Amino acid sequence: MVYLSPAGRVLNQSVAAELADRYDNLILLCGHYEGVDHRIIEELVDEEISLGDFVLTGGEIPACVLVDCVARLVPGVLGCEESAQTESFSSGLLEYPQYTRPREFEGLTVPEPLLNGNHAHIVDWQLSESLYITLRRRPEMAKAYLDGRKFTRHQQKVVDAVFDRIREEDEAAKAQTEEQP
Ligand code: SAM
Repeated sequence: MVYLSPAGRVLNQSVAAELADRYDNLILLCGHYEGVDHRIIEELVDEEISLGDFVLTGGEIPACVLVDCVARLVPGVLGCEESAQTESFSSGLLEYPQYTRPREFEGLTVPEPLLNGNHAHIVDWQLSESLYITLRRRPEMAKAYLDGRKFTRHQQKVVDAVFDRIREEDEAAKAQTEEQP
């Protein structure tokens, strides 16, 4: 039994994967007002899971979130198993941007590597964009991903190019700020 509680382990992708792996069935207990009698937690609850560092009125919304993110890791729930593995957090990085048709929309085009049909270029682009967005938005996550990771020589070039891009962007932004009166 899982009790949804602000005092629980904070839900993330690896906690969801652990729950999907460990249990065939989950009973979700939702509190209201002050929560539930502590003896219930001591006697019946196996795990306490929190949605984050904030307090909601009841456990129902966290329960819905938990059901959704755990269920999609159960084999057969998603049409394509691979999609769960490449999504944000599963690989250790945030996911690269997604594009669909048309090739051009109001002057905005789909990036060239996704159009040329070369699978190796697509894989490089995906790594590059994932690393870029993670370094920008979740540097601590990017650091955990990069620490001790072994890349092939080719992948290392892709990674180095991302750091060059970030450095150039930051220098350009700094120069622009300095130019302003
Ligand atoms: N008295 C509790 C405390 O200070 O920790 C808060 C109780 S809260 C008002 C009522 C119920 O909402 C909780 O028992 C829990 O089931 C649910 N709840 C509230 N915030 C939550 C969160 N961040 N994660 C998971 N469940 C939460």
